[in-house]
Amino acid sequence: MSSDLTGVAPSALAGAVDPDDDYLTVALLCAGLAEILRRRERAAAGEKNAEGILPSSWRSGFARLWWRCFADGVPAVEDDLRLLGLCAEPMVTWPVALALSEIDLQQTLLVGERLSEFAEQGARLSRGDVEAEWVENRVHEALRSTASANGSTPQEVEAAYAYLRRYLIDHAVIADRSVQTLERRFRAHDAAGRTYVRRLVEAAYRSRTVVGVQRFLLCPACRNPVEDAACDCGTPGCPGGSAVELLLEPLAAVYEQHRATRLYVHDPGLVEARIMDALSTEKLAGRVRITPYPGVDQVDVLIEFLSPDAGSVVVESWGVDAKDQVSARLLGRGFVWPKEFRCDRRLLALPMHRAKQPGYIDDLKAEMDGRVAGVQVIDENRLIKQVKRRAGELHG
Ligand SMILES: [Zn+2]
Repeated sequence: MSSDLTGVAPSALAGAVDPDDDYLTVALLCAGLAEILRRRERAAAGEKNAEGILPSSWRSGFARLWWRCFADGVPAVEDDLRLLGLCAEPMVTWPVALALSEIDLQQTLLVGERLSEFAEQGARLSRGDVEAEWVENRVHEALRSTASANGSTPQEVEAAYAYLRRYLIDHAVIADRSVQTLERRFRAHDAAGRTYVRRLVEAAYRSRTVVGVQRFLLCPACRNPVEDAACDCGTPGCPGGSAVELLLEPLAAVYEQHRATRLYVHDPGLVEARIMDALSTEKLAGRVRITPYPGVDQVDVLIEFLSPDAGSVVVESWGVDAKDQVSARLLGRGFVWPKEFRCDRRLLALPMHRAKQPGYIDDLKAEMDGRVAGVQVIDENRLIKQVKRRAGELHG
């Protein structure tokens, strides 16, 4: 199937050339759903809808599903409404037995009026014109431009990037005063006199005018705001806990992260933040050097083991990319190791809540097999243990 027709980037779905590939069908439906929801939102906002027909990715996905039913000799899904209805049901209940992993078959594509986490991942993989992806790209773009404007050497740019990226992981909600503090630290500005860091904040957060002290409740583990103390944060894999109070004293506004920032920058960043924190202990100091987001985010963490004799001489290096995604199969398809990034061991680290799911690691490895060479899959706890053990071996 031509990638032009489907809007599917060949690289993203490499390995998906098999015409019977159900992951391609589902990814197309996800991209289509994302577009349908986006149009619906625009219509609700009173914008005129110039596109009368359903998105091409949806139609391609529908057609593929129709043929799939036909080939299996089961009654085809009759129309778009019926298929939309199915999207809210686990795929295991669909009339045709899709060749997806056990875990993925339990997923729905829609949860209420929104894309499910699985569908978000599928839509991203198929590079549909997804509003959420657009916000995410704007945030990443702003992160890079802010970092590069605020550093005069590659090391300074890398440090600025790492600081700001971590800031977004640690701060789901901030006061305008914090933005000013950031502006004093990262002073570079554009031709119009606006600091790059303010542009980053405006891309990643939504501001709200307020008067007086503002009280927020945060989940103690992921630091996302929750409605009330009893409310579940909803962050995948988050152990939660009793909400903690955050009091902000803004001058006139608070900034809260967009849903897309939360989904694509904040929440998936929690696993790498945990890894960095666990390895930045006194016990490892002088033996292991941790660099967050080396080379401006080529991978998530660079772990360098230092020589016991000569302080800063690196004797071994491990690169870690941490990924927190609902579908192992879709993750495996989209995963690439940056070619330019050299290290002795390449690791794809998974958060425990994914790694513990039966079949997740096997599915991921099966998808990477023969496509991504030399990358080991590991869970976050095992990674931390292995780093400590290796540091012990090298330092006796
Ligand atoms: Zn949480």
